[in-house]
Amino acid sequence: MGYGHLDRPAQFLKGVGPKRADALKKLAVGTARDLLYLTPRRYDDASTVRPIDTLHVGLDATARGRVRSSGVIPTRSGLRIFQVVLQDDSGMITCAWPGQPWLDRKIREGDQLLVTGPVKFFHGRQLHPREFTLLARAGKEGDGEGSGEEGQVFVSYPGTDDLPQWVLRRIYELNLDWLLDHAHEEEYLPDDLREDLGLPALRDAFTKLHRPSRTEEAEEGRRRLAFDELFFLQLVQALARHQETEVEPGIVHTRTNRLIRPLHQSLPFQLTGAQARVLREIYQDMTSRRRMNRFLQGDVGAGKTLVALFAMLLALEGGHQAILMAPTELLAEQHALKLGTLLEPLGLSVSLLTGSVKGQAREDILAGLADGKISLVVGTHALIQEGVRFHQPGLVVVDEQHRFGVRQRMALVEGREEGFRPDVLVMSATPIPRSLALTLYGDLDLSILDELPPGRTPVKTLLRSSSRRDEVYAGVRKELDTGRQAYLVYPLVEETESSDLRAATQEHERLSGEVFTDRQVGLLHGKLPPEEKDRVMRAFRDGELDVLVATTVIEVGIDVPNATVMVIEHAERFGLSQLHQLRGRVGRGGGQSWCVLISDPGEMAAERLKVFTRTTDGFEIARADLEIRGQGDLFGSQQHGRDPLLRFADLATDEALLMEARRLARRMVDVDPQLEDPAHARVRDLLEHRHAERLKMWKVG
Ligand code: ADP
Ligand code: MG
Repeated sequence: MGYGHLDRPAQFLKGVGPKRADALKKLAVGTARDLLYLTPRRYDDASTVRPIDTLHVGLDATARGRVRSSGVIPTRSGLRIFQVVLQDDSGMITCAWPGQPWLDRKIREGDQLLVTGPVKFFHGRQLHPREFTLLARAGKEGDGEGSGEEGQVFVSYPGTDDLPQWVLRRIYELNLDWLLDHAHEEEYLPDDLREDLGLPALRDAFTKLHRPSRTEEAEEGRRRLAFDELFFLQLVQALARHQETEVEPGIVHTRTNRLIRPLHQSLPFQLTGAQARVLREIYQDMTSRRRMNRFLQGDVGAGKTLVALFAMLLALEGGHQAILMAPTELLAEQHALKLGTLLEPLGLSVSLLTGSVKGQAREDILAGLADGKISLVVGTHALIQEGVRFHQPGLVVVDEQHRFGVRQRMALVEGREEGFRPDVLVMSATPIPRSLALTLYGDLDLSILDELPPGRTPVKTLLRSSSRRDEVYAGVRKELDTGRQAYLVYPLVEETESSDLRAATQEHERLSGEVFTDRQVGLLHGKLPPEEKDRVMRAFRDGELDVLVATTVIEVGIDVPNATVMVIEHAERFGLSQLHQLRGRVGRGGGQSWCVLISDPGEMAAERLKVFTRTTDGFEIARADLEIRGQGDLFGSQQHGRDPLLRFADLATDEALLMEARRLARRMVDVDPQLEDPAHARVRDLLEHRHAERLKMWKVG
């Protein structure tokens, strides 16, 4: 593609220059193209802007005018109020910002302002702006009535101190026509395809984004740009998937039903519809020539382990080894135990390889793995260490993906001896919305277990204020009296001076010394040495401890059916998905379990926590979490600075768009994996020149 017009450094755009170019860098704008792709912060519809003389007390309104006078007014209470008189063709009104005297340095006489807020009665009418936009600076370029502000919609950009709103608006005024004339350089969708998708052409989309004539137009423009973002991300992932699963063939597993059928027959229950569906997907992958690289998602207790076991048996039937890797020793032991019980009727056994398997036992397992006498092994990282050799490994199941990280998954599966290309099944008990899963793990195929086996008793969840803590303890004691066990969870390990949060270490002392004096109370947190953590968890599992005081380290992994109560302190400090993971530690036995959230939340948090008490559906909770927290938070560290992975797309609302983008990306890679068809030249160029760097990390996950 070479050096296009849009590559022009921002410095050389009209009205920019070196100083403003520096300021633009803080907004991740380095080129003309970046300016085109800068996301407006908000839109105000001019039809909702009221003439100032029609603003009456009680309205919540938007007005626009010129600042006639301004100043800071002290009050008797010591509060300082910044005030301006705003004037338009129809009249004048006072705008007041109580407690914000510093605005005096930002807003000057003669400035053009757009303000939104309630109109109150206070020495006459006063508007108290919730938000304001400085449309034009007094006496500066672009000031003057009617210079670009007569459009129907006011567009505001994310200004900074060095680059106030009015400067940004001015820069767009001077350059947008030119930018739009070159927008087609970025176009990669043929018209017919684009129309099928109901999306505007790029030039059109940018016009709608930066100069909409109605606010709905801005949304149409955003959708197009969101599609592009999602498309290129899915394309990178589709290419990675192609590389992983098609280029070098996988194993064609042979299904004989020699083991699968007996397992079915030995189960005292029917598979759920979701389990049956997911197994069909897995069998299909495994018996085909393409290599399986699949992500299995399902809530705690949805029956993932059983699904994994059937898949492992399919590998065994065709004469291959099956390997299950867990993130902790305890989890590996639990899996080995669970699988062992299920396989007993089949006369099969499970080997266990963890760091604490040593000496002769370890030698024996290594030998068995290398010569193929062992067909089914469960373990930890110990499985991927030097000196471990497998014999025709056919399937690797990785439990709890997020604890491993993608690199470790790759280390396990790639770069081993010749011919080590087993199928891969990644399991996670952290429900995330489909749109987020397809974005984070788009190179994997996705299977979702969205149905719990029948007959479970849902955990009852209560929200209690801290003033009722004693009552909660009384309830816990009642459960303990019947021989049950309890978790008490805290947000911190240790108290700090800067916070008055309760912390596990101090609470452990208080609870064992004053509250549950006749009980065994253990302490578990992330700062303990691993052996100590392990010891405490085992003691709790074996019933030597009645109460476990803990931080979120218990989130994943521990399975103690006899634990029936969980009390979570400062519940408002946790994300909903995290609360859900925590709650999943109880309700694992037959009877009724309880989860009590102790919190004195503000209004927002209370709403959130109430959502949580009403449902135990992990996917519903994950969706609520995505809506409340926004996707930025969920991408975590992957999101850096002002250049987030997704600027236009919103995973909470754009799932349908994402599915379209994914379909198109996969279809393109299926028919033209090298993107060498001339029809795909533009896509290929854009991918290499525009998206490759940004999306690089997503290639591996
Ligand atoms: P997960 O790994 O998803 O947390 P598991 O596979 O450990 O769930 O299953 C949880 C429990 O439910 C196990 O005791 C398992 O035997 C049982 N189970 C699995 N599938 C079914 C089913 N279809 N009907 C009844 N119980 C089931
Ligand atoms: Mg296969």
